[in-house]
Amino acid sequence: MRLLLIGPPGAGKGTQAVRLAAHLSIPHISTGDLFREHMDRGTELGQLVGTHMRAGLLVPDEVTIELLDERLARPDTEPGFLLDGFPRNRAQANELDGILAASGSRLDAVLDLEIPDAEVVGRIAGRRVCRQDRGHVFHVEHNPPRVAGTCTICGGELYQREDDSEATVRRRLAVHHRETAPVLDHYRDRDRGLVTTLSALGPVEEVLARGLAAIGRSRVDVSGIASH
Ligand code: ADP
Repeated sequence: MRLLLIGPPGAGKGTQAVRLAAHLSIPHISTGDLFREHMDRGTELGQLVGTHMRAGLLVPDEVTIELLDERLARPDTEPGFLLDGFPRNRAQANELDGILAASGSRLDAVLDLEIPDAEVVGRIAGRRVCRQDRGHVFHVEHNPPRVAGTCTICGGELYQREDDSEATVRRRLAVHHRETAPVLDHYRDRDRGLVTTLSALGPVEEVLARGLAAIGRSRVDVSGIASH
C-alpha cells in the first residue's frame, strides 16, 4: 500500500505515521526525520538543511527530491510506503507522480489530517521527541512520558526541537497553508476519491482508528461477517 499523510505541523502526522506504518507493515518515510539524521551526523547536507529548518522554511526542492528519490529506490519500499512530510508543494507532487509512473505504481490513498491553527501552537509548544528514535513523540500534557525528560518506550533523552518555538511554528503554519495545502488539490483534481480528510483532534488511538477506517483497514475485522 502506498500512502501519503498530509497536514500542518502539530497535526500528529509523525505519531500517526509510525502507528499506521506498523499496522500495514510498510516503511515510514519522513523527510523531516531524514533531514534531522543528516543534521545529527553533521553532514554537509545536514548543515544546509539546518538553516532552512530552523527558520521554519522549506528545504530547497533539489535537495529534498534527491534525498527522497534515493530513499524510495531502496528495496524495502517494494510492498509500499507511508510518506510523511512529502510532497510539501506542487513541484514535489509532480516529482512523486514521475517516480510512481516510472515504476508503474500508483498511490492508494492520501490522508489529510485537519486541525485548527490555534490548536497547533499549544500542541507544538508541549511536544518532546526522543533523541534515540524520533518516532517516539510525547506531549508534556496530552501524552506525558512516565518520567519527565525520559522516553517511556526506550529510555532515550527527550528534547524540544529547535524549530518548535512559537514564532517558528507560526511561520511553518503559513508555509503549510501557502504551499502544502494546494498539494491536496493536486490529488483531488486527479482522482476525487483519493483524498480523505480526517479530524486530527481527540486521543491518538481515535485518530488512528479514523485513519485505518479511511483506508479500509478498520481494527474490527468484518471480513468474516456475511453481507446477506
Ligand atoms: P512538521 O510536520 O511538524 O513541520 P517535519 O519534521 O515534517 O515536521 O518537518 C520539519 C521541517 O523539515 C520543515 O519545516 C522543513 O523545513 C523541512 N522539511 C520536511 N519535509 C520537507 C519537504 N518535503 N520539503 C521541504 N522541506 C521539508
